Amino acid sequence: MSDVTIIGGGIVGLCTALALQDDGHSVEIIERDQPGGGATFGNCGLLAVGEVVPLAKPGTARKIPGWLLDPEGPLFVRPRALLRELPWLLRFLSTGSRRRVTEAAGFLATLTRHAEADYRALLDRAGIAGNLVPAENLIVFHDRADYEKDRFTWELREALGFRHSFLSGEEVRELEPALGGPVSCGARLKGWHQFSDPHLMARRLAAFFQARGGIIRIAEVRHIESAGDRVAALHLAGGERIDVRRLVVAAGAWSRPLLGELGLKAPLAALQGYHYHVPAPGVALGRPVLYANGGFVLTPMETGLRIAGTIEVAGPDPAPNFSRAHMLARKAAGILPGLDLSGGTLWMGPRPFLPDGLPAIGRAPRHANVFLAYGHGQIGVTLGATTGRLVAELVAGREPSVDLAPFRPERF
Ligand SMILES: Cc1cc2nc3c(=O)[nH]c(=O)nc-3n(C[C@H](O)[C@H](O)[C@H](O)COP(=O)(O)OP(=O)(O)OC[C@H]3O[C@@H](n4cnc5c(N)ncnc54)[C@H](O)[C@@H]3O)c2cc1C
Repeated sequence: MSDVTIIGGGIVGLCTALALQDDGHSVEIIERDQPGGGATFGNCGLLAVGEVVPLAKPGTARKIPGWLLDPEGPLFVRPRALLRELPWLLRFLSTGSRRRVTEAAGFLATLTRHAEADYRALLDRAGIAGNLVPAENLIVFHDRADYEKDRFTWELREALGFRHSFLSGEEVRELEPALGGPVSCGARLKGWHQFSDPHLMARRLAAFFQARGGIIRIAEVRHIESAGDRVAALHLAGGERIDVRRLVVAAGAWSRPLLGELGLKAPLAALQGYHYHVPAPGVALGRPVLYANGGFVLTPMETGLRIAGTIEVAGPDPAPNFSRAHMLARKAAGILPGLDLSGGTLWMGPRPFLPDGLPAIGRAPRHANVFLAYGHGQIGVTLGATTGRLVAELVAGREPSVDLAPFRPERF
């Protein structure tokens, strides 16, 4: 039996596994698909240190009619999912007051401020430092008014020390000559980085974990067996029962049923995103470009150009609606004249979202040997290494180096 068993081999589970190994624990990951699958597979790949302002904020409620009516909009609620997801959406909107958003952004910043240093240390140890590269991000807009209307977010980021500068259309094109179409201005985000490809990085971290004696078992956890105030064993889809000494639940957007087995009602939603990934785009971008009007990002990666983003509320495990991925490709071509979309691959994956936009990192409320790390929303890759380090601190009984009170799993 390993010292620690982790459910989920996404970026959070993998980084946690590596941090636990650093402390001398033997670790087993149980992953039903492949390490670095799930949301970790296909995201935008940004180390988004300044992406700390939650999605629900003052003015968000006014946008609801658009979410229901425009299937090509940056955020779409599938009509069939509306009834089921309405309680979550209302809870999500209720966290959007100026006071709560300001507070939540401050809490998230206590985590993202460590992201780069934590990844540097981890990737250096794994011998894959080149998987994280400095990349000032660029946000582009059709109009200055599109930039101005999000003044609240800009000011909040600035107040927390995440700097940006406004750029004219000419300055945007100086940085990124390939951009064209309706783009008329932009904003440059200082101190951001990007991953060369998040899935490949996760695979490399998994290989490093195994090379250090870690076990990855490909299996689905169906049931968690408790004995008093401890978890005793996991029951796998194949009928196998495995004993556990300590357990970490890091199953991303699929954590909810597992948490239910631990007596925790977590309001965790899966907000789907899509990508269209082009192996040979025929145009070059020097950095990730966030297209604000489209609600997606174009990230140059070691495997090609990834066009990824948008949010779809569609309930748990929906069938993909790949017309949204095609829409991303079409809109990207509108600002990148000459973009060659041939050979593009399509993907859908779920952001694990709690209503207040903060992750859950902490001990399970009812089980002394269980630790939780889920709900990392739109910045789960950014927070992977830091979350892993914090969970390892909890497992070791050390005082966590970040105040984890705002991220208590039982706060809802
Ligand atoms: C379009 C899009 C763009 C994004 N862009 C960014 C970005 O630029 N920067 C950033 O920081 N974040 C980004 N994110 C968010 C980020 O991808 C997620 O927050 C992050 O990947 C979550 O990691 P995780 O390990 O918690 O979950 P996942 O990566 O989803 O991993 C969970 C794993 O658990 C496994 N699992 C689930 N249930 C079980 C079970 N019962 N038994 C066994 N295994 C199980 C799954 O198979 C899966 O592999 C983006 C997300 C999307 C969708």
